[in-house]
Amino acid sequence: MKFAIISKGDQKSEEIKEKVRQHLIEFDLLYDEEEPDLVLSVGGDGTFLEAFHRYQFRLEETAFLGLHTGHLGFYADWVPEEVEKLIIEIAKTPYEVVEYPLLDVMIRPKTGDEVHHFLALNECSVKTAEGSVVLDVTIKGEHFERFRGDGLCISTPSGSTAYNKALGGGIIHPSLPSIQITEMASINNRVFRTIGSPLILPDHHTCELHPINDKSFLITIDHITKNYSNVEVIECKVAKEKIRFARFRPFPFWKRVRDSFVSDDS
Ligand code: NAP
Repeated sequence: MKFAIISKGDQKSEEIKEKVRQHLIEFDLLYDEEEPDLVLSVGGDGTFLEAFHRYQFRLEETAFLGLHTGHLGFYADWVPEEVEKLIIEIAKTPYEVVEYPLLDVMIRPKTGDEVHHFLALNECSVKTAEGSVVLDVTIKGEHFERFRGDGLCISTPSGSTAYNKALGGGIIHPSLPSIQITEMASINNRVFRTIGSPLILPDHHTCELHPINDKSFLITIDHITKNYSNVEVIECKVAKEKIRFARFRPFPFWKRVRDSFVSDDS
């Protein structure tokens, strides 16, 4: 089996990376950063997002696994004290694959420019540095509302515990292939009106965001933000692709949620 390790880059993560790398090579596994079957992220959820984006071109062949060197991660669920156990598991045990849905984002320009296509593990957020975001929101081809406010966040189920949660969105179990739209400070008064509640869309519904003026938009895909001008439409839907996690032991989603946000009592 070929493996690669992405580290957060701090001393602790680098030491663990080197230890795991050496031991797995001794177990006759091949370290291959180009075409790994297994990618281990050592750091936090932010590091896991980087690992996902680095290897998203081969999602069908690669499984991901996270070891966290900070506080409990949503994607990184092994701790440094378990590193020897993890090395043996990787070297000796066939792993179970668990798949989670992803978000497909297409940014289409008004004229000529390149179409941008992304996959997000957590979310896509749309903001602007030029006053309020004003967009027509279309769902499955039907106009739904004209949004005015700070912006919108469109998240995956596994991203629902990240930015989406801070915006008052619901937590969605990753076995539900869906996306969630949450508002950022919408303007609501007698003239302007939005739904106000988070919307959860199934995998056969596409959400389109049509800017109604010529502002440029700060569009963030997970941890990467870029400024886009000349935007005709931003299309969001559940992706055909999925992320594959290597699971050596069960770690139920609701236990992660409880341990992260409610209590770490067993
Ligand atoms: P960051 O601002 O350095 O970290 C954001 C925090 O979100 C970190 O504590 C990170 O955990 C955590 N996180 C990431 N994915 C998560 C998930 N699926 N469930 C629960 N928590 C999660 O940014 P970053 O490390 O580059 O990560 C980018 C992510 O930050 C974005 O995808 C977005 O979801 C999140 N974000 C959150 C807010 C907010 O909550 N108000 C605002 C902006 C962005 P680790 O410490 O383990 O890395």
